[in-house]
Amino acid sequence: MISIDKSTIDKPKNLTHKPCEKALDEVIKSKNGEKINSIYNSAKVKDSLLKLYNNKCAYCEQIITEGFSVRIDHYRPKDKVKDIDKKEIIGHNGYYWLGYEWTNLLPSCERCNSLKSNIFPIEVENQRFYEPELLPNNKIDTSKQLIDSDFLKNEKPLILNPEIDKPEDYFVFLATGEIKPISINGVDIQKGITTKDLCGLRDSLIIARKNKIDDYYEKLRKHIDEYFTDLNENNKEMKLAIVKSKAKDVFSEILTNSYSKYEYSRLHYFIVQKIDYFIFSKFDSIPRHKQLIVDLYLEFKNGSLKYLQQKL
Ligand SMILES: [Zn+2]
Repeated sequence: MISIDKSTIDKPKNLTHKPCEKALDEVIKSKNGEKINSIYNSAKVKDSLLKLYNNKCAYCEQIITEGFSVRIDHYRPKDKVKDIDKKEIIGHNGYYWLGYEWTNLLPSCERCNSLKSNIFPIEVENQRFYEPELLPNNKIDTSKQLIDSDFLKNEKPLILNPEIDKPEDYFVFLATGEIKPISINGVDIQKGITTKDLCGLRDSLIIARKNKIDDYYEKLRKHIDEYFTDLNENNKEMKLAIVKSKAKDVFSEILTNSYSKYEYSRLHYFIVQKIDYFIFSKFDSIPRHKQLIVDLYLEFKNGSLKYLQQKL
């Protein structure tokens, strides 16, 4: 998960048109999320969300493709709500008034959408909203409909939203490919835990992330091994030039993949920040190999400092 700024893109027109206003009025009158129609699920909304999220799931950062595995997820579920124990909250008809709310819509892969389903845990259950705030004319108070409004934030959701929260404040990645909620004084942050449990820790993603890390290590190990094989005074200079160039390619690949448009960019952000932990520590058993890889990285980093500063 990476932070996204929705203000950089226009709200899709069909969410501002009269038919949508009318549909919202009807849902508010009926107080029933099941009456929400497919206006929110239009190609225009999907296109805009995919563009904003670089074709990635808002939760797990897997690439999702238009028309195939894209789901539009209601951050606050539109009909029926389940609590932290995944039990349906009796008497809650869903956040039906947010069914067409642009800030409540996130692009999601099928898997995250189905795992999250109607689950929307909050810190204190008796602070949950069951109905919208209406103005005297029975129209919705739009200022209290925005996901980042203080009004809705007061509900203190326990699922991260990439448009409100900074995911890096809640998670770290491990070299095993797992995600670990950040602890403060030994106490795990509940919001990180629930998000991880719902979206981030499924086996296929752990393996995919670990494969990425292992792949970088394997490439670098191969290049370092090649350098030391049959090394002598005569070929040293040439071999050094080769290993520098090959290692640079791998480091560049890691850096480039930390760009927000690439799959698992958050993982790559962590690899760049803690490259010693993710990559270099794997060379610990052979000190001269470790020294070389660290030196090559320092040289790469100094040479690309401007690039790094722009990016990180
Ligand atoms: Zn996903």
